[in-house]
Amino acid sequence: MSQAKGFTSRIVHHDRLQGFTDGPVHAPVYNSVPYGYQSTQDLVDVFQGVATGQVYARQATPTTESLQSMITQAEQGVGTLVFATGMAAISAVFFSMLKAGDHLITSQYLFGNTHSLIKTMEGFGIEVSFVDTTDVAAVAAAKQENTRMVYTETIANPGTQVADLAAIGDWCESQGIVYFVDNTITSPYLFRPKAVKASLVMNSLSKYFCGHGTVLGGSVTDTGLFNWETYPHIFAGYKKGDPKKWALTQIKKKSLRDMGASLSSDAAFQIAVGAETMALRMDRSNSNALALAELLAAHPKVARVYYPGLAAHPQHQTATELFKSYGSILSFDLAEGFDCAALLDDIDLIINATHLGDNRTLALPMASTIFFEMGAENRAKLGIGDRMIRCSIGIEDTDDLLTAFSEALDRL
Ligand SMILES: *Cc1c(COP(=O)(O)O)cnc(C)c1O
Repeated sequence: MSQAKGFTSRIVHHDRLQGFTDGPVHAPVYNSVPYGYQSTQDLVDVFQGVATGQVYARQATPTTESLQSMITQAEQGVGTLVFATGMAAISAVFFSMLKAGDHLITSQYLFGNTHSLIKTMEGFGIEVSFVDTTDVAAVAAAKQENTRMVYTETIANPGTQVADLAAIGDWCESQGIVYFVDNTITSPYLFRPKAVKASLVMNSLSKYFCGHGTVLGGSVTDTGLFNWETYPHIFAGYKKGDPKKWALTQIKKKSLRDMGASLSSDAAFQIAVGAETMALRMDRSNSNALALAELLAAHPKVARVYYPGLAAHPQHQTATELFKSYGSILSFDLAEGFDCAALLDDIDLIINATHLGDNRTLALPMASTIFFEMGAENRAKLGIGDRMIRCSIGIEDTDDLLTAFSEALDRL
């Protein structure tokens, strides 16, 4: 087991590292909220951090800790915390590590709910610059004296812009700025942000990590690369022991304990089971997406395809250098005069739904759904046209998927 180097070998044999008694092959689901001790002193020691142990399920259970340890392995970090959702994980970092007067540099192509969250942060006195993170020069140009953190996604949705991840990592390191990467769309199977010097890595476990579309969860992993001794906002009480763990201690206390968006043991169990097939699912959905992208790019009724695996994609080179493959988000614009709903309603195999990373192919028009609320002017700025469709490609048999799209396009 300890010899295994492969991603999937490590994940599927991970439970054995936990030493659960009675030898269960899968981590048991611990549904107890409180944890009791033989003597008062044993409980006091756990409270005071002298001994390790569980206290109350809002902070952790043996089941959520087992998942945390699996994610730490997958991201090759020094520790991980899990949360009820991906949004809870992002909020946890922002609210426990930033203070009024700080400046955050982030992407102009963010996931919509993250964008909305950051707008809320502005109300708490955080200054924000939304820049084009496909170019490190735009990030560097936004720097202020009070810049504390850069936050970016790997592949943006729906436009599939790929951030200049390695150059931004070098720049953050040279400036002593925290580099926080949302790895949801790539997952640790396609990409490890630690390789580009990320300090903190977030994953929405609801997407590719668990797959299946049956459970919500989120995580934050510390890669161990940032020197938290230089960070001004670590509370004195958390500057104990290994400095590599200071940020996670603070995020755990300030967010999980105080704000309480905790993952249940039931959800953690489902996510751990789902993660065992991450590599298999992603190999299939990614090769499906590439095949479909090529088909769409060659079709006269399609004006443009957004997929980093296509040579014509503006960041194809970056994606090829950094990622194992190109993901399974694929967007496209129908040619002028064709209607998104007419096409989608004619493809029986795909489901009209939002979400990413289900095993089924899901698709929806962008302008009339997710980006409806922001209005036409803002959509134009983001490059979201009226004939744009986003697909989250599933693990269906490739021929079925290609036939379904090509026949429906021909009928259109
Ligand atoms: C879905 C998503 C999130 C939020 O995750 P939830 O688990 O749905 O809260 C954050 N970032 C990205 C890139 C996402 O796709």
